[in-house]
Amino acid sequence: MVCYYHSDKPALGLCKYCQRGLCCDCAAVVDDCLACKNRHEEQVHALELLMQKNILQSKRVGSDYTRNTIFYGVVGILFAAFGASQLEFLGLQAVIYLMIGLALLWAAAANYIESRRYKK
Ligand SMILES: [Zn+2]
Ligand SMILES: [Zn+2]
Repeated sequence: MVCYYHSDKPALGLCKYCQRGLCCDCAAVVDDCLACKNRHEEQVHALELLMQKNILQSKRVGSDYTRNTIFYGVVGILFAAFGASQLEFLGLQAVIYLMIGLALLWAAAANYIESRRYKK
């Protein structure tokens, strides 16, 4: 592979924007990526900003925690309500259900706190 602008020089890498080979004279480093010097530095920087935005969006950390909060909350209430209603019939078994319910509600609360932290 040779430089797109100098066919006699070997290319160090590719411009992130136009994918052309660049020699050491033509390559500019923008945000740890290579760009055509004085040609695509702006574009590569814009691409990097876009990528970083996409990575943040694809994580969707906040909404994952919100979903977990709802899931643990609903299941926790079901277990706790079942345990409480069966307490006089099942005894210890109902207490175990109740404790599972409370543990799930605790997990829901922890997820809720985490989701609040990620919300801006
Ligand atoms: Zn060159
Ligand atoms: Zn370029």
